Amino acid sequence: MERETILEMKDIVKKYGDFTAVDHVDFSMHKGEIVAIIGPSGSGKSTLLRCINGLVSITSGEMKLSGSTGMVFQHFNLFPHMTCRENITYAPVKVKKIDKEVAGRKAEELLKMVGLLEKADV
Ligand code: ADP
Repeated sequence: MERETILEMKDIVKKYGDFTAVDHVDFSMHKGEIVAIIGPSGSGKSTLLRCINGLVSITSGEMKLSGSTGMVFQHFNLFPHMTCRENITYAPVKVKKIDKEVAGRKAEELLKMVGLLEKADV
């Protein structure tokens, strides 16, 4: 059975001024796939991910995405004066107006998933 396509990128170009950071990329992903994008520093990997996330707009090309995406940045800028739990719940509570207790339970679930539950209040 053919697997559902969750991301399809065709002939994607991203330019910053005259500089081409992503140069005519075709790329697709299917449900359940784990994909690594490999290349030297500065070759456009992060820019490609930013295009997928909508953090930068593509210059040309076509992209179809079903569902939503997340991105863990190399420099992830946690708030240093907050605990792990507070860092995780701050945006959902402030931006998405999710109930603090609901967000807290979700945070614990996520911390547990990555083996960091005992660090919740650190
Ligand atoms: P990688 O993730 O593969 O290291 P990047 O996607 O971060 O590469 O960068 C690709 C190229 O685009 C680099 O030459 C980088 O300097 C350039 N670049 C990235 N972001 C910007 C920007 N906001 N403005 C101008 N050039 C950028």
